[in-house]
Amino acid sequence: MIKLSKPSIGNEEIEVVKNVLLSGQLVHGEECNLFEKELAEYLNCEDVIVVSSCTAALHLSLVAQGIGKGDAVIVPAFTFPATVNAVELVGASPILVDVSLDTYDIDVTKIEATIKDWHGSEKIKAIIPVHEFGCPADMSEIMRIADEYSLLVIEDAACALGSEYNGKKVGTFGVTGCFSFHPRKAITTGEGGAIAVNNKKLAEKLRILRNHGIKYVDNGVDFVLPGYNYRMSNFQAALGRTQLKKFDNWLNIRKNLQKVYRENLQQINFYRLPKDVDGHSWQTFMICLDEKFDRNAIIKKLRINNIETNLGAQALHCLKYYKDKYGYSDEDYPNAAKLYKQGLALPFYQGLSVNEITMVSENLVSVFKEYR
Ligand SMILES: *Cc1c(COP(=O)(O)O)cnc(C)c1O
Repeated sequence: MIKLSKPSIGNEEIEVVKNVLLSGQLVHGEECNLFEKELAEYLNCEDVIVVSSCTAALHLSLVAQGIGKGDAVIVPAFTFPATVNAVELVGASPILVDVSLDTYDIDVTKIEATIKDWHGSEKIKAIIPVHEFGCPADMSEIMRIADEYSLLVIEDAACALGSEYNGKKVGTFGVTGCFSFHPRKAITTGEGGAIAVNNKKLAEKLRILRNHGIKYVDNGVDFVLPGYNYRMSNFQAALGRTQLKKFDNWLNIRKNLQKVYRENLQQINFYRLPKDVDGHSWQTFMICLDEKFDRNAIIKKLRINNIETNLGAQALHCLKYYKDKYGYSDEDYPNAAKLYKQGLALPFYQGLSVNEITMVSENLVSVFKEYR
């Protein structure tokens, strides 16, 4: 079976985790501190706070800004639902904006109209652009709009470690940038996440919120906020540090592998290919099938041929909770709905060989022809 994705775990990873396990320091510790420093260096930002997941990173980002009841937050309609769940969890209301069929990112030409048309009682406080599948969102336009309407920008860079916009790492444009180290993402710590920040005071608040509301003072600790336990464990950080060292190499491999798919698949007009955007880190390679195909039937057929594929991400307005609560209909955000229903994520990870990608491509083309 050619898997959709597979984390690269080698002997070095096993060794460093074993050493931390034997050290006895299992919760937050020195490996976490070093991982934070190395991530900040990699991203070229002031500070990084490692946490238990990207969902925790998004949640803390909203809590630290005091976003909650009575507030609204702009979110792209096509993403993994953790983006919008974080907004709901703090009691704020999401405002969805459709995405582009080329990049799968928020359609920046639709944001301002959405802000102007907003008649809800909630006040729009923030925008969470998602760098979907590693494709950098149009940050100059997003920052311009945020500036004009006094909105905070919280970047969901869960899929986008290593992605760049105009030569600058994504996740460092907004007030915070949230990353995931889930095994499906660029580098993994099992579960895990990180928050990139450029503001020392905000970094301190995030660290306090991450760790039960504890502030370290001269004579010990005090509890200054009702905090969470969103810490990363020390062995996870050791794993992450080892992965980060190898990451630039993996990124280059991924950039080359996506070209192989592109070359193999460009002849066919049964689907759209994702746009080859500068600075894309290719966490996922998703194509969008023509309406005439039953995507789920294609997934089953490919599985019989030992190729694992899947849908890419969700259209939030098509999900039960959001549909029931906000009364969305599927037509409200047509591009997101189309990507949700017709998107097909192909096997993609740095351990795949060019031959395997060619094999998958040939298989795909013959399955498409069969279903034509
Ligand atoms: C994976 C993902 C998340 C959630 O990350 P976790 O670390 O699993 O919490 C959030 N947003 C997007 C866009 C993702 O792809």
